[in-house]
Amino acid sequence: MEIVLRGIGVSPGIAIGPALPFGVRTLDIPRYLVENKEAEWARFEQAVTTVRGELTRLHEQTMQELGQYHADIFAAHLLLLDDITIHEEIKSRLDSEGLNVEFLLDELVGRYSNLLESVEDPRFRERARDLVDVSQRVLERLLNAEAQTLERLETPSVVVAHDLSPSETAKIDLVNALGIATDMSGPTSHTAILARAFEIPAVVGLKYVGAHVMPGDMVVLDGTHGQVIIRPEEKTLERFRAEKKREEARRQALLLADENLVSTTLDGHAVPTLANIELPVEIAHSLKTKAMGVGLYRTEYLFLNRGSLPTEEEQFHAYAEVAEAFNPSSVTLRTLDIGGDKFVAHVRSLPETNPQLGWRAIRFCLERPDIFKAQLRAMLRASTFGNVQIMFPLISGVDELRQAKAIFRDVCLDLDRRSIPFDRNVKVGSMIEVPSAVAMADMLAKESDFFSLGTNDLIQYSLAVDRGNERIAHMYEPAHPAILRMIRQTVLAAKAAKIPCAVCGEMAGDPLFTELLAGLGVDSLSMSTVAIPAVRAQIATCRMSVARRFAKRVLAMGSASDVRALLLERFRGRNEQA
Ligand code: PEP
Ligand code: MG
Repeated sequence: MEIVLRGIGVSPGIAIGPALPFGVRTLDIPRYLVENKEAEWARFEQAVTTVRGELTRLHEQTMQELGQYHADIFAAHLLLLDDITIHEEIKSRLDSEGLNVEFLLDELVGRYSNLLESVEDPRFRERARDLVDVSQRVLERLLNAEAQTLERLETPSVVVAHDLSPSETAKIDLVNALGIATDMSGPTSHTAILARAFEIPAVVGLKYVGAHVMPGDMVVLDGTHGQVIIRPEEKTLERFRAEKKREEARRQALLLADENLVSTTLDGHAVPTLANIELPVEIAHSLKTKAMGVGLYRTEYLFLNRGSLPTEEEQFHAYAEVAEAFNPSSVTLRTLDIGGDKFVAHVRSLPETNPQLGWRAIRFCLERPDIFKAQLRAMLRASTFGNVQIMFPLISGVDELRQAKAIFRDVCLDLDRRSIPFDRNVKVGSMIEVPSAVAMADMLAKESDFFSLGTNDLIQYSLAVDRGNERIAHMYEPAHPAILRMIRQTVLAAKAAKIPCAVCGEMAGDPLFTELLAGLGVDSLSMSTVAIPAVRAQIATCRMSVARRFAKRVLAMGSASDVRALLLERFRGRNEQA
């Protein structure tokens, strides 16, 4: 019998293929009696030695690149690895029962971690996770198992996972990954954003897909409507094969019809549509979709999935490539936004209880001026290759912006001293994505060259709804009047200071909000490339004079569900007429 699961469709399209469960415990732990106990113990010690080498290297590297605080996690792992009680218990059971060491280790860690997990204090739970992490490394060595990766899939498959981190998604095999289905995650999580960027159909927040699917099971994934069908019946398969063809034809038609559109309303107001990009592979597609520049380059993706930080030179080439490709259109390079749900390898186990409220984005950069300065130098050097703007993420107030700009000025002086050319007119802007930044928008506007509203985080922080949590995804509501008021307040502050205000959160790519955002006075919209044709089609069907009146009407409303209903009604009306 087929099983139909509903989740949140975050990247449109239909995928049909065999399931590839990812990240489920794949290590098969054997249990057998050993003949030579001494040799078995030596095998265990050898595995521990190898892992000790790995962890020591990670510890040193992290200490060098990110400092003591982050390196401590590996110091803790090293202590656990050499925990004498664990070693003694394995040795004593090996001597008395003669069982293989991977079985003994797995059983012992299972027992200990259950015990630790049952204690209320979160520090014990963290310790349980650390213990499992370390023992997993040792087990992998003992079993000669490679860690599972999505980098190269053997056959075209639908990737099914309990959860996928942005770094795992960033290196996914773009040819063979047909679709992505996860139990966890929300619509504006970075995993969802990447799936859209790569145009891989995806459904998240499925809750139980990992539990229902076996390797190789046939799966139909509908990213447009947010459903996954496991072991579909023949007639279901046929229906979706036909729908897949129709949907591809529709998308193609939209792209072709869009060829001559210039993002202008019926009464001649330009609302430029720009691309958000994460990785250089997206440049070509953004150009094909005729993106009018890059409104957000999430540069942190250059830092993920690697053993060390990218050099200034590497960064310079990456930024210059984008600047040159889009010249003379503008390219907005956002400085490093790691933390939250994006960790570079060495910070992966960052012991923060609440990383979204933790050490991320500009906070990280201000404490690591060495990393920040290298990035700013690379960005400024790239500015001679096109029309570059620089933007700081997660600005929460004036002091932070001033500190960031002071470092920026230092870097300019340094380049000058060394006679390295850069564009002296590079604009420096603030992302408005923290509620305190909205409250201070008038002050921030006086010291910023532009604003870009990061609605993904603004919604998360204003409504207190974790953007990556599927359980409360229904509460993550861009149509909430509080959000619309904050957008308007930011726009007004920008207008008073005569600076432009863009939106680069996912809301900018949702055609339901296009007319409203234009009416609220937003100057440009930056979005996943895949969304550009549909948003541009909306701009082409609205009048700015009407949009402004409509926005006024919406701003007077108090209920999020009423706003959403009105937006839907209006959207249908506009598109049925067209
Ligand atoms: C946002 O928060 O809206 C944004 C564009 O930044 P990110 O999604 O990378 O946090
Ligand atoms: Mg953000």
